[in-house]
Amino acid sequence: MTVNKLKKEILDDKATVDLLKKIAGPYSTDVIRLFKEGDEYTPDSISKKTNKKITYVRSVLNSLHYRGIACYKKNKVKKMFYEFKWSIKYKKIIEVVLEQQLEKYKMLEDSISDKKDRDYFRCPKKCVEIPFEIAAAYNFKCPNCNSILELIDIKKVIASIKRKKSILKKNIDRLNEILHKIEDKTKGYICE
Ligand SMILES: [Zn+2]
Repeated sequence: MTVNKLKKEILDDKATVDLLKKIAGPYSTDVIRLFKEGDEYTPDSISKKTNKKITYVRSVLNSLHYRGIACYKKNKVKKMFYEFKWSIKYKKIIEVVLEQQLEKYKMLEDSISDKKDRDYFRCPKKCVEIPFEIAAAYNFKCPNCNSILELIDIKKVIASIKRKKSILKKNIDRLNEILHKIEDKTKGYICE
């Protein structure tokens, strides 16, 4: 898979875009979009191309750098004067997304094993969702609005978590497959 094709796939995926925005702000994808395979830019030229302030561009790059996504080369231009050229590691974006998806997957698994052998109760007005022991301590009344708590059909809940898990699993497999197809040939960058 070429980096440019990968880039399109990355920037078309909503979960990935959301994660990038969470990592480096709402316009981080505008900065990332700029880079084609082998491209290097100084913060100044990124600022001109994206019409964003240089301080903003620097903060996006630093946030992405913190996760190993934006990497730079330091070139000595004159004595005591360096120029920083930045590049984007698309492969690393996939790795960061994969890491997040695996965490979510683990959370769903934990929530299944947590729920499966217990009775849960909820307030009909959706204030709380609590296990049997706590519901009993409140005399099966909502601690917030005093409504009578109702027993949750835990089998239904678990079935729905399992559905989410299998969707996530498909996506994780897809990302793993992509990851194995990319070869990152860029060298000499400082990534973390
Ligand atoms: Zn309530």
